[in-house]
Amino acid sequence: MLFGMSDTPQRLPLGPGPSPVPPRVLQAIAKPTVGHLDPICLEVMDGVRTKLRTAFKTKNEMTLAVSGTGSAGMECALVNLIEPGDSVLICTNGYFGERMAEIASRCQCDLHRLDVEWGEPILQDQVLAEAKRVNAKVVGIVHGETSTGIHNPIKDLGHKVHELGALLLVDCVATLGGMEVDTDAWGLDAVYSGSQKCLSAPPGLAPMTVSPRAIEKLEARKTKVQSWYLDLTEVKHYWGEDRFYHHTAPVNMLYALDEALNIVLEEGVDSRVQRHTDMHLLLKAGLDAMGLKYASPEGYHMTCVNAVRVPEGADDLKVRKAFMSDYGIEIGAGLGKFKGKAWRFGLMGHGAQRRNVALILAALDDLLKR
Ligand code: PLP
Repeated sequence: MLFGMSDTPQRLPLGPGPSPVPPRVLQAIAKPTVGHLDPICLEVMDGVRTKLRTAFKTKNEMTLAVSGTGSAGMECALVNLIEPGDSVLICTNGYFGERMAEIASRCQCDLHRLDVEWGEPILQDQVLAEAKRVNAKVVGIVHGETSTGIHNPIKDLGHKVHELGALLLVDCVATLGGMEVDTDAWGLDAVYSGSQKCLSAPPGLAPMTVSPRAIEKLEARKTKVQSWYLDLTEVKHYWGEDRFYHHTAPVNMLYALDEALNIVLEEGVDSRVQRHTDMHLLLKAGLDAMGLKYASPEGYHMTCVNAVRVPEGADDLKVRKAFMSDYGIEIGAGLGKFKGKAWRFGLMGHGAQRRNVALILAALDDLLKR
């Protein structure tokens, strides 16, 4: 069935993203479109940069929103940090680590992979030992591996990776604004996210921050960045004081991200993280009581995406379809190796609310009984 603009049904997206967008953000996106040199646009871009620094917990000058979804952030971080010939270590334990390795494989680097079983965490000592062995110049890892609901601990990794002479690149697409991300204290060199997850704006922008250490490497490159569109040496003039035209600013998306960040800052980054933890624990208690098992081991669960194994005897597709048809709720299916084996319940950003926890549990109880 096709829907016209006016009769698009209201869904409740409680999967791994996009998350529900608050009305204030939807109103912001409907503001008049202006050109990229209009003082209104300049002010919004400056505001977005400042607010993103608070969200990322960084003083990095190079903090901006890449035009494109989270994958554009991933590609941007990789093509700028990796120079052809570099030894690069990409850590994988899920679908998005695989994507990182796929992009890195196109960067003419000496690619090494640390492949950990899907559903198992990547541990810091494994990463450091492998980075040392291959003399890595860049190490890439996903913080919250949305495909399996695993939280890969990265807190102590950055400074140790630096001691080995490498840079640390981290995917926080699903975690920024929902789980603790402390860019400067943790020594992260390139961190990117997505507007549509715990920040609760629509999809279309990839917030990103890059450390001075990484900028130094970028500026010392002997070769051009392989992507013109994502070349940060160009993009910085566009976001910086010179305001050179590089590409047409997705201005209405910037309004949306700006307003979403206002909401993040009003709540406070740490309080927001705590709210995600609280809602995760509430949902987990209910799922445990129903006998459902998480796909990740205890102590390594993402709080914003709860991936559980489809229980014996339940029909994966039927349950997900009924969530949508009977409750208007979108939940996530398993991805890649977890296809047909997991359900993913997202409590992200504006979606991380007590009433949504109650809805998921009630609907699941009803559907499993049926
Ligand atoms: N990385 C992670 C951890 C993700 O969860 C996603 C999307 O789900 C991506 C990267 C890719 O982002 P996008 O789909 O916005 O391009």
